[in-house]
Amino acid sequence: MSSTETLEVVCPHCSKPFASPLMGSGRHSGFKCPHCKLFVPVDRAGDSGAN
Ligand SMILES: [Zn+2]
Repeated sequence: MSSTETLEVVCPHCSKPFASPLMGSGRHSGFKCPHCKLFVPVDRAGDSGAN
């Protein structure tokens, strides 16, 4: 329906969960954390404590 997909991710910087639309594309895609304002690469999003 919409081209903007909102995903739930956990910020690897502040460890807080948030929901955000995916920004960018390819390897540069990611999210902006509303808590610490840092960029979260999609690669790092939802990391469940593995290092
Ligand atoms: Zn954060």
